[in-house]
Parts: sequence; C-alpha cells; structure tokens
Amino acid sequence: MKKNIIVQKYGGSSIANIDRIKEVAKRILGSKKKNNALVIVVSALGDTTNELEELAFKINKNPPEREMDMLMATGEQIACALLAMAIKNLGHDAISFTGTQVGIITDCSHTKARIETISARRIRKALAENKIVIVAGYQGVTEENEITTLGRGGSDLTAVALAQALQAKVCEIYTDVGGIYTTDPRIVKNARKIKTITFEEMLEMASLGAQVMQARSIEVAKRFNIPIHVRSSFSKEEGTMIVKKTSNLEQVSVQGVTSSRSEAKITICAVPDQPGIAAKIFTEVSKVGATVDIIVQNISHTRHTDISFTVPKTHLTKALNAVKIVAKKIRAGEVQHNNNIARISIVGSGMRSHHGIAAQMFRTLAKSKVNIEMIATSEISISCIISNRQVAKAVKALHKQFGLSKRK
Ligand code: ADP
Ligand code: ASP
Ligand code: MG
Repeated sequence: MKKNIIVQKYGGSSIANIDRIKEVAKRILGSKKKNNALVIVVSALGDTTNELEELAFKINKNPPEREMDMLMATGEQIACALLAMAIKNLGHDAISFTGTQVGIITDCSHTKARIETISARRIRKALAENKIVIVAGYQGVTEENEITTLGRGGSDLTAVALAQALQAKVCEIYTDVGGIYTTDPRIVKNARKIKTITFEEMLEMASLGAQVMQARSIEVAKRFNIPIHVRSSFSKEEGTMIVKKTSNLEQVSVQGVTSSRSEAKITICAVPDQPGIAAKIFTEVSKVGATVDIIVQNISHTRHTDISFTVPKTHLTKALNAVKIVAKKIRAGEVQHNNNIARISIVGSGMRSHHGIAAQMFRTLAKSKVNIEMIATSEISISCIISNRQVAKAVKALHKQFGLSKRK
C-alpha cells in the first residue's frame, strides 16, 4: 500500500527548549497513522541562529560567507538529532538527516543559496522502513560539497521544497502563533486569524515583513501549487490555509498590514541633474552586490537634486562605501544615511478594483502624526517608509482603519 507522505515543519519558536522538543515529539507521534509517512523539517532551537550570528560578528565584522554557512547550519543539525532522540525515546523509530545527507543540492551563493535539485533517496528508503524522518531545515550542499544556507527563515523553504519533491499530501508549518493573522499578533492583540489566503497575497505579505513565512518558500509553493497549512504547535486549532484561490466571493480591499525594520535609507544630496547620473550611481551600488529597493528623486529647481533610496541594513556598509566614491566622482554633495527607518505596508488583491485606498492610508498616518518619508506601490500593496519609533502606532491605526480587527 502506498502511504501518504506528510511534511511538517517545526520552527525554532516551537522547539525552544528540551520540554518543548519532548512535547513536539509527542505531537508528531500523535499524527503518525498506519497509512501515512512523516517527514519532519526542523529549524534551530529558539534563538540559536541569532546567537550563532552574534558569535561570528564578535570575531569578524565582515565574516566570510562560506564560513557563515558552516556555522549557521550547525543549529539545525543539533535540532534534528535531538528530535530524533526524543521520538525514539517514545518508542517509535526515527532518523535525522542533514541537508547534505538527503541530497538538497543548491547553487554556490552562500547565505542565500537556491535549491537546484533534491534527490531524497535516503528519505524514501527510511520511510519505507517505517521510520519517522527528521530533516535539518535551512541548509543544502553544492555539487562541490560545500555547505550552504537558504536565507533566514529558510526552513520553510526546505519544507515546501521537500513537499514538492516527495509529492506530499500535506505541508504543515507549525509555529508559535495560530496561523496567518491580519497583522503581527505580537503588535496588535486583536489581530484576526485569516482562514484562507492566496499565494499571491501571502507572498506580498511575506516580502513586506510578515516573518511567519519565508517569502521564497511561498514562491515555490505558488509555482508548484502546494497548499500550505500554517498552524500552532501549541494547540490543536486549525490554522490558515495558503492556497491558489480562495472561495471568497469578493476580495477585500486590504487583507493585512505588515511592518519591517530590515532596511536603511541612503541620501545623496545635491546630485547634478543630468542624464546618466542615476545610471552611474546605481551601477556602482549594484557592482558591490547591494540590493536597492525604493528610490526617490525630487524634481530639481537648481539643477541639483537629492536622491534617496533604501537597501537592506545588511548591505548598508558596502552600499555606503560605493556611494561615497561615486558621489565624489559626479561632484554631488554630502552622503547621509539613516538606520532608524521602517516600512509599513498594506496588502490585498482587492486593491486592484478598489479606489482611494492610498489616500485612506495616508490620511490615517497623518491623523496619527506619522510622517511619511518615502512611498512605494505594487498592484496589490502600498508601502510607506516612516520612523521606526512609530511602527506600532502606525500598524495599529491602519489595522483599525481598514476594519481588520476580530469581529465581536
Ligand atoms: P518559526 O520559529 O516558527 O519559524 P517565526 O518567528 O519565523 O517562527 O514566525 C512566527 C512569528 O511571525 C510570530 O511569532 C509572529 O510574531 C510573526 N508574524 C509577523 N507577522 C505575522 C502575521 N501576519 N501573522 C502571523 N504571525 C506573524
Ligand atoms: N534557523 C534559521 C533562521 O533563524 C532558519 C529558520 O528558522 O527557518 O533563519
Ligand atoms: Mg520562521
């Protein structure tokens, strides 16, 4: 009889300590049936990945990416071994594997590697022996046998990619909240759990800061149409289904509010307003591998203009170095930067057919005395860059304005 394969992923927040690992082991055994086969993906325990990162930066302010991957991948290896032991202790056979051992082959871009193929031969063999298989998330290996990681939050991607490779029946993501909410429930207590959300909206929310799912994992789920169930590892409650299409008759204009503190702003003052100048600046920035997002250039009245743009905080140093050199070359003025910014966004596919949403967002922020520094839009989202001190206030105000709170 062919067994249904179920992929479950437990995040670091679900296995933060020994008691939790034991709890999760019990829960896994509770879901083991005769006719199913379980593949469990784990992240590193609790805050381990951040702690490893801190260690690296204490030794070297600019740690080599290859060595970062060697270091960061160890967290998940600890987690999968401990969980396998916990399951065996409860009387069921289990075996843990690293990304390398199950053949998760990636390209060579250390710290943000892309999965190329998954052989999963050892997983299939172990499942055939009725073992529960535990896989270390977030990691892979190159053809040259170098260990890589898949970007922060990458265990979500391991789970979705394994679900695809194994043609799993279900992909469940267990975390410390009950599902996907209208906004981060840690910021807004009465945020509402969303029953079903489309890949498109979830991808937008994840890209704009909803940390609960890694954006890249949703890209893969969308491409291969793999429904995902995001749910709590602390309760039995149903969570949120991420699917291709929801059955809602009409799309709501705003589905969720997100915030992100991952970017910094660079401003080049008094840039000569001539053709080719923006090309020069951004060519230099891209040469050092910095990713640019929102760009704002004012109209010039004096033949000079300020150009501001955002980069991930982790790219700030290299972007600044490049910008300072090019600013001199083009005879621009001072280069400033600001680390204390945040992006708040509203997301919803109904925005395509509703008017006035942007105006409503800006009015709400104005009423809350939140100054907007930059604005960016996509078809299904609007983002504003604001001061990071005002994030909670702005998120709460927008959440209320767009009627997203729990229905009483
Ligand atoms: P895990 O360790 O399970 O991978 P993460 O910390 O990566 O968990 O993601 C879960 C966290 O995501 C939650 O604790 C919550 O604070 C945060 N979060 C942000 N936005 C949302 C949202 N819209 N819905 C649910 N959780 C969210
Ligand atoms: N432990 C890794 C991280 O913190 C991967 C993950 O949690 O999904 O980013
Ligand atoms: Mg996560």
